[in-house]
Amino acid sequence: MPSSLLEPEERVLSTLEKDGSRRWLNPKLSGGSFLTARRIFAYFLIVAFTLTPYVHLILGLEKPLVLLDILHRKFILLGFTFLPTDTILLALTLLTLLLGIFLMTAMFGRVWCGWACPQTVYLEFVYRPIERLFEGTKGKGGKPRKPVAGWRKIARYAVYLLVSMYLAHTFLAYFVGVESLAVWITSSPFDHPVAFVVMASVTGAMMFDFGFFREQTCIIACPYGRLQSALLDRQSLIVSYDKTRGEPRGKKRKSAEGKAEQAGDCVDCHLCVDTCPTGIDIRDGLQMECIGCAQCIDACAPVMAKLGRDDGLIRYSTQAAIDGESTGLFRPRVVIYPVIMLVLLTAIGVLLSVKKSADVVLLRNLGNPFTVMDDGQVSNSMRIKITNRREMAVAYMVEPVSDVVTRIELAENPLAIDPGASRTEGVLIVLPRSAFTDGVRDIILHVSDGAGFEQDIPCRLLGPYGPAKKKASTPAQSIPETTGQGDAK
Ligand code: SF4
Ligand code: SF4
Repeated sequence: MPSSLLEPEERVLSTLEKDGSRRWLNPKLSGGSFLTARRIFAYFLIVAFTLTPYVHLILGLEKPLVLLDILHRKFILLGFTFLPTDTILLALTLLTLLLGIFLMTAMFGRVWCGWACPQTVYLEFVYRPIERLFEGTKGKGGKPRKPVAGWRKIARYAVYLLVSMYLAHTFLAYFVGVESLAVWITSSPFDHPVAFVVMASVTGAMMFDFGFFREQTCIIACPYGRLQSALLDRQSLIVSYDKTRGEPRGKKRKSAEGKAEQAGDCVDCHLCVDTCPTGIDIRDGLQMECIGCAQCIDACAPVMAKLGRDDGLIRYSTQAAIDGESTGLFRPRVVIYPVIMLVLLTAIGVLLSVKKSADVVLLRNLGNPFTVMDDGQVSNSMRIKITNRREMAVAYMVEPVSDVVTRIELAENPLAIDPGASRTEGVLIVLPRSAFTDGVRDIILHVSDGAGFEQDIPCRLLGPYGPAKKKASTPAQSIPETTGQGDAK
């Protein structure tokens, strides 16, 4: 039984009815200068998003501009490869990006949400236009004027599916690279079932998001909107309604004396509300749901023009300016953020400048630190890990710098390593017992690829103390002598 006690006085969310059911939004499209600018920018972004995974093929570059290869734990950003060993570099880069977002929000509000976020770009400039195309006035004039024929809905969802599949493939190209994607597309799904399931899941997620969930992503799922109260200040640029000018809202009426009664510029036509893609009323002030799309500005401008009133009842402004306070570009946060970013960028630059085209690590093997061999020489068993950061196969030569080393043994030398891959191999280093002083000997291993990469790796070898003991006459006593523990330097 419905209880009036539980009924809220008004909507809790712009997308919920009072009874908690979904309030489906059919925002009207309001043409204007901001919509035109956003549309041009959105189509530019869509083209850029589509082409980015192919840029290295078009320009003949060695690496893609962006590759987020989670499976192989390899990220490429603007041609630089981040491997698991680059955690600090990656963390600094992400921190710099995060601060960049903070700075952008402090200065220009939610300009990202309204102008550049893929959710807004694809929903407003791809999926909603398709909806309008198949379902008549929906979107441009609010709800359709007549019931939509079933075939139109089916056709709309069929086109949605095609667009979502294209989007899913483009999206996946950022994670697996266009080369792998081409193989997936041109071969049977049974040859790569996991990849096919991933592609189908991403397509399904796109269908769910753009066909059903829509503005709920911005209002419920995205954390960025919820952070805006912390990221914005009174000097941040936001879409605002000028309350001083607009209120009291409503039509001007004549009093009994025939004089026009005082009324604000807002005629309460509701167009700014009907056009809002998140269903809010900008006249209630800055709200978490506002994505800064400027549709309400475009809706109100012709109303003001028609009434012969000044433009800008709803406009890009700051809370301080709307309240008549002085405004200024410089405040602590717009100085502190760039300063920290500068420090981080300097640190990234220094780290990048010492990075080479390969990483080499030499480690001591577990077990015996050394072995005295039958011929009296001493061997140390190590393992070498080489990471090839280049996008081509490279062979690395490992050689001792010192003549004291009798020989070194690897599975193969030079070591061939695939692009972006790592290889770990055992290395046996053999040298005479006499080369050790107090049980240690420091040597240098030189690693090179013959194409510019050179690195010297210091290595501390361990051996027995003192001269060799006299050998016993029986073969059973020729078991290698071992002692001590230690690590390569
Ligand atoms: S209030 Fe205006 S700027 Fe904010 S989301 Fe709605 S239409 Fe866009
Ligand atoms: S569009 Fe302008 S005039 Fe109409 S209700 Fe909104 S603020 Fe008022």
